[in-house]
Order: sequence, then C-alpha cells, then structure tokens
Amino acid sequence: MLQPMTRRSAFAMLAAGAVVAACNENPVTGRSQLVLVDDAMLAQLGEQAWRDALSKMPRTQSPALQTRLERIGARIVDASGRTNENWEFAVFDSPEVNAFVLPGGKVAFYSGLMELAGGDGEIAAVMGHEVGHVEARHAAERMSQQLLVQLGVQAASLVLSEEYGANAGAIAGALGMGVMYGVVLPYSRKHELEADALGVKLMRDAAYDPGDAVRFWEKMVASNGQRPKALEWLSTHPADDTRLVELRRAAAAPAPG
Ligand SMILES: [Zn+2]
Repeated sequence: MLQPMTRRSAFAMLAAGAVVAACNENPVTGRSQLVLVDDAMLAQLGEQAWRDALSKMPRTQSPALQTRLERIGARIVDASGRTNENWEFAVFDSPEVNAFVLPGGKVAFYSGLMELAGGDGEIAAVMGHEVGHVEARHAAERMSQQLLVQLGVQAASLVLSEEYGANAGAIAGALGMGVMYGVVLPYSRKHELEADALGVKLMRDAAYDPGDAVRFWEKMVASNGQRPKALEWLSTHPADDTRLVELRRAAAAPAPG
C-alpha cells in the first residue's frame, strides 16, 4: 500500500532530526528495542497512510458495523491505557478477511473479517492483536530496521557496533540482505506472536473471554482454502500450529494477580 522508504527520504529524516538513537526496554514486552525514529514522526506517517486508505477504499454501508467496531476498539484501548494515540477505527467494505493497524492508532477492519467473526469476543481478539502491535512499538522497531538497510550496511554497522559490539558486522550483513520493510508491510513472525500474546492479555483486561481468540483462529485455519495473500492477522509466515498452540496456552493461563 505504501511505497518502501527511499534512500533519499531516509536521509531527509536524518537531516530533519527525526532520527533518535535509542535502545530502550519496552515496558509492555519487557524486551529491549532498537528505535531510531521519533514517535511523532511515525504517527504523522501513519496519519498520511490512513488518509490515503480512507480516500481509496470504500467504507462499509452499515453504520451498525462501524459502531460495533468503535465500541469494541474503545474497550480494548481503555484496557491498554494507551490514550495518547489519536485512535480511529474504520470498517472497509471488502470480502477480504483482513485487518491492520497504522502507527498513531489507526485501526482498519475489512467487513469480511467482521462477518467471519461470530461475536464481539472474536472481533476483540483481532482488535487486541492490532492494539498489541501499537503497545509493543512494532512499527517503530520495523522502520528502524528499514532505516538501517536504507542507510547502507556500513552506516548500520557503525550504529550497531555501539549496541551489539563484535557481532555488528554479521548483524549488519543480515540486515543488508533482508527484506525491505514498510509502514504497512507484514510484521515479522516474532512481532506477530508478541501481538497475539498482548492481545490475549488485553482481552482479559477488557473482560472478554480470551478463548474467543482461539476460536477465531481455529475458524481461520478451517477456512484455509480461501486464505487471502496479504493478511496482516495471519502474517506471512504460515506456522499456524505454533501460533494456535501459543494462543491456547495464553488463553488457558490463569489471570495474573
Ligand atoms: Zn499482526
């Protein structure tokens, strides 16, 4: 949907001071992240992509469907405590079973997904997953990786040498050979599983039944034959079994504290 970042725009971001080198622990995931991009800038990119999507894709004709998504979205967002984002929710009129989130809190569901989901809990499962991506700052992390690729392996190894010491060369080499990431391109498998786990926690905090995440995923696996290609929720890495096992485990775990 979005063009991959060009080398020129990567340097423009550097010149504009939008790049901030930081390797911080994310309090939600407990994982250390290399983040080189400014949150405000990322939210602005998300806003642009969102306006673009709204102008190009037809919205649902059903106000009830739109209201339903907003209600579930607000409940999950409340549970996350992420109120600094300017959250927006939209149902696009498409038979595709798909959903995505953009930086800054723009969440899109396709009507095909809304129809496949049996009840609010199953929609909340996907919503929790998408909000989980935001909580975990996956877009910032992914764009930082892209930025390193764009700026070249040599520049990357300079940055990485401060973070990773002797392994910098190997890591930079791997980045150079890696796939280019964009704002709305599929997340990595690690990010997908992390968003799944955060989604289950959000469902629980918002008083939805986490078992609905498992039920929805089983439904997705059963409709395997008509699986669309670019499905954010499904990810590009088709290890359904691992994902389902993890989801079942998370849903069955007793609520902490
Ligand atoms: Zn995802």
